[in-house]
Order: sequence, then C-alpha cells, then structure tokens
Amino acid sequence: MRADESGAGEDSAVRGPAAGLPGPARDASGDGEGGDGGGGGANGGAAELLERHRAVMPNWLALYYKDPIELVRGEGARVWDGAGKEYLDFFAGIVTTISGHVVPKLVEALTEQANKIAHTSTVYLIRPMVELAERLTDLSPVEPSPVKAFFVGSGTEAIEAALLFATNWRRSNEIIALRNSYHGRSFGAIGITGNKGWSPSSFSPLNVSYALSPYCYRCPFGLTYPDCGVACAEDLRNVIETTTTGEPAAMIAEPIQGVGGFVTPPPEYFGIVKSILDEFGIPFIADEVQTGFGRTGEAFWGIESYGVHPDAIVCAKGLGNGMAIGAVVSRADMMDSIKANSISTFGGNPLASTYALANLDNIVEQRFQERAYKIGNALYRDLKDLEERYDVVGEVRGKGLMIGVELVTDGESKAPSAAAANQVMEICKERGLLIGRGGLYGNVLRLSPPLVITEDDAARAVETLEFAFGEVQNA
Ligand code: PMP
Repeated sequence: MRADESGAGEDSAVRGPAAGLPGPARDASGDGEGGDGGGGGANGGAAELLERHRAVMPNWLALYYKDPIELVRGEGARVWDGAGKEYLDFFAGIVTTISGHVVPKLVEALTEQANKIAHTSTVYLIRPMVELAERLTDLSPVEPSPVKAFFVGSGTEAIEAALLFATNWRRSNEIIALRNSYHGRSFGAIGITGNKGWSPSSFSPLNVSYALSPYCYRCPFGLTYPDCGVACAEDLRNVIETTTTGEPAAMIAEPIQGVGGFVTPPPEYFGIVKSILDEFGIPFIADEVQTGFGRTGEAFWGIESYGVHPDAIVCAKGLGNGMAIGAVVSRADMMDSIKANSISTFGGNPLASTYALANLDNIVEQRFQERAYKIGNALYRDLKDLEERYDVVGEVRGKGLMIGVELVTDGESKAPSAAAANQVMEICKERGLLIGRGGLYGNVLRLSPPLVITEDDAARAVETLEFAFGEVQNA
C-alpha cells in the first residue's frame, strides 16, 4: 500500500499514512522560493531542500505539512526553522526529546565523552554502558529478578531483540499483539504491527495473533466503559484458546498505543490481561518506547500505572533524548536463553550510553514525571473542555504529557476526519505550534512535548488549538 492511500492525506495539506507520520509531501509547493540551500532565502531554503529530498530520499519517507520545514535550532521546548520562525514544540521529535532541546548539562557530558573516545564496540568493556544497565534495571518494573539490559540503536532493533529473546526462551514463534499497535519498521516489528498504514509487507518471521485494542471511543464490541466489563481484555482468553497453541512466546503491547492515536486503555485493562496471561504462563512484554521515562505522569513507566510487572520492557526514544539508543530490559532467564553469539556493534556505545545516563539523571533530578503529571492534568482538563464545546473534537484522552485529540466530522456520527486533523496541524504551524498526528484513520492529534514545558506553554497550546478548532468547525 502506498503511504498516501490510507485516506489520511486526501484533499489536505498533509500527505501520508494514517498513523502519525504524514507521507511524502509530493504536492508541496516546491516553488523554489528563496532557498539557497544553506538556510537563507525567504523560507530558509526549505523549498529547495525539499526538491533535493524528493530526488534522493524514498518517496514513502514522510514529511509533515504542505510546505515542510527544516528545524535548525532548539532550546528547551522551543525550536526554530531555517527562516528563523519560532515554534513551541509539542511533538518532541516524535515523543523523543523528553529533557528538551540542547540541555547544557547533556551537551557537556556528550562533548566530554567525545573528547575521550566515541566508539570501541561491545567486545571491550564499556563503563557507561554497564552503568546505564545498572540504572535501567534498578528503575525497571520488570519481575522477577534478576533483570538484565541489552542495548541497541533504535526502538525497532530493541523490539527485534525482545522478540528474539522471547521466541528462543519459549521455543515458539507465536506472538500475541494488539490491533492498532505500532512496533517498528523491520520484518519482525511490522509483523506485530496492527495497522495497515504501517504494514508495507506481510512477510513475517512470526506467527501473530491480534487481540482487540482497548479503544473505548471506538469499542470493538460497541459497548461503553465501565458497563462493558472490559470485555476487550476478557476476550484475550478466547484469542489464546482459538488462535494459538496455548503456549505462545509472549504477548506484547504498548501501555498507551502511540502511533495508533494515544489510545489509552481503561485502568483495569492490563491487570485483566496479565492475569489471563499468567493462567497460561505466557510472558508479557511492555513496549515502553513512547510511554517510558515519566511521560505518562502517574508513573515512571506507562505499564506501572496499571499495576502490572512485565517480564520485559522495550524502550528507546526518550532514553536517548535524541541520541540513537534503544534497550531491552528483561528477566535474566529470558535474555540469557540465547545460545549463539549475538552482538550490536553500536549498541551501548560510549557516546550514546554517556548521554543516556546524563539524560536519565536529568529526568530524575528535575522530577519530570511529577511535572508531566501536574501540567499534563491541567492540559487534559482544558482540552476536555474543548471536547465539550467543539463538535469536531470527538475525544480527548491520554495520561501526563501524552495527550491525544481525536477529530471527527461530528460528534453524532463519530466519522474520523483526517482532513480536520490536517487543517488543525497547518493552522497550528502557522501560529507557531508543532504537534503530531496519528491514529488508524490519521485523525488524531498527538501532543507529547518535552517534559520541560511550563504551565504558560500548555495554556498557549490550548489557546492555539482552540483557535484552530474554531476555524475548522466554521470552515
Ligand atoms: N515501538 C513503538 C511503540 C514506537 O512508537 C516506535 C517508533 N514510533 C517503535 C517501537 C520503533 O522505534 P524506532 O522508530 O526507534 O525504530
């Protein structure tokens, strides 16, 4: 499927797959206005850079906006494009720059390490990697102990590693995943991704069963929480009994479905899921790539909000605050079940580990989790108020500073409106606010700023969004 066939980009300024990253801006103006390729010109050279991008990058590599922008500088929760326009960053490079942009302490740690040694590989001892593993295993919700960590270069690679560990350990190629999930771009990861907009191939090394997504706004049973009895969770037993051998390698799920549109399960969901998995002795892997490191406010890890201890977690994005690093943190018996050698040349390299360690310290010292809770709750409340007042706002959901706003043609039909999401994104951009997009239908706005934002920043985002909702509704 082509990236822009999902219905998300039609008739709109933003092109691309339904789930979060609008696709190629093939129709973006590209009129060569300004553009000296070096950041000069009326648009900071973006139009000229877009032409070059189109010529040499794959056409499915998504760009936001009718006129895509180049971000050339950042500071805290603010970024600037090549033309010098300032934006409040409410997407954080896809839920990644959790500590904010250009944090002096982190830059210092990185520079200091770069001046010593950048790369050695894992065939030599790496002190910062071992220290990072100690920190992460200490912080992790994984049970039972002992717990170990393995580092790689991205979220996708961490997912692959977790799948390798679980399938080896259990001697099974069966995995249970959720519908509407996203886990990455490799064969294994897309094999467990339940979203056609992000499934460019059906080839898979795994035998996958898809359980229902706990997507209350579009309940697969047409029920309403809490009268539903969380039937989507209870259905897992039937999925195991009818679509697996009864002994799959693992179930994997995001505590909040990120690319899927910040779909936030009801409080009982993961408790019920875990107890059914325990009945069958099936391990549980939490994909914390978006939900980790305090983002969801209630807890350091998204899954902790649900009172569940997974057998493994996968993390990336916020761990490196922009540095390419991912990790699996799992019970040692699962991780140590690999019998052949395995290696990641770059995984846990001195630069990435040092930076991630400094970032972790910063997250804890600055009490970002509490901040995400406090500012996130206020933001959620103000946006809920807009849900009442604007018919185009179908549902506001999320936890902490991970808030989704699902847009619809009207509250009655609840028909997804990707066009409205595109318009809101363009208006916000014009008014200096960057937000993300996602959802199976490309109609969910995603707010996931760096956790350094202030109450004033949150208020400004709400004000901008309200203006955009008004414009879209009255169009
Ligand atoms: N899991 C989840 C939940 C994600 O959101 C992502 C990236 N959006 C990945 C895995 C893959 O991470 P990466 O893009 O770093 O490979």
